[in-house]
Amino acid sequence: MAGKRTFTMIKPDATSAGHTGSILKIIEEAGYKIIAMKKTQLSSSRAGQFYAVHQERPFYNDLCAYMSSGPIVPMILEKENAVEDFRKLIGATDPQKADPGTIRALYAKSIEANAIHGSDSDDNATIEGDFFFSDLEKY
Ligand code: UDP
Ligand code: MG
Repeated sequence: MAGKRTFTMIKPDATSAGHTGSILKIIEEAGYKIIAMKKTQLSSSRAGQFYAVHQERPFYNDLCAYMSSGPIVPMILEKENAVEDFRKLIGATDPQKADPGTIRALYAKSIEANAIHGSDSDDNATIEGDFFFSDLEKY
C-alpha cells in the first residue's frame, strides 16, 4: 500500500474546541477514506515517544505537555498520494503561514496548538499508524 496511506491526529486544541466534525468533513470531502479512527488521550511520556525525533528541540517539553492535555482523534487515512496531499490539506506548521482554506489556517490556535498532525513520509505514516493501532491487520 506504499503511497496510499497516511496517519493523522486531531490535536487537543481542535477536539476541545469542538472542531472534530468539521475537520472530518474536510478530510472526507478531499477524498480520504477513514481506515481506522478512535478518540483517546496520551500521557506526557507517550506524547514524548511519539515526538521523540524532536527531543532536542526547545519546544519539546511544552509540546509533550500540550499533546497530553486533552483528547485526540488519531486516524489512518487512505487515498492515492496520501502523505503529500494531506500535508497540503493541513497547511504549514505555523498557522500564520498556512495557505487560506487549509485545516490549520481554519482551526489552529498557534504554532504549537496547530489543530492537526500529518505524517511527513510513507515510512513515518506506517510507524505512526502502528503507534496507535497495534492491531493493524484488522485494517
Ligand atoms: N511545534 C512547536 N513549535 C515549533 C515547531 C513545532 O510547538 O516551533 C510543534 C507543533 O505542534 C508541530 C509539532 O511540534 O506540529 C511537530 O513539529 P514539526 O516541525 O514536525 O511540524 P509538522 O510536521 O507537525 O508540521
Ligand atoms: Mg512533522
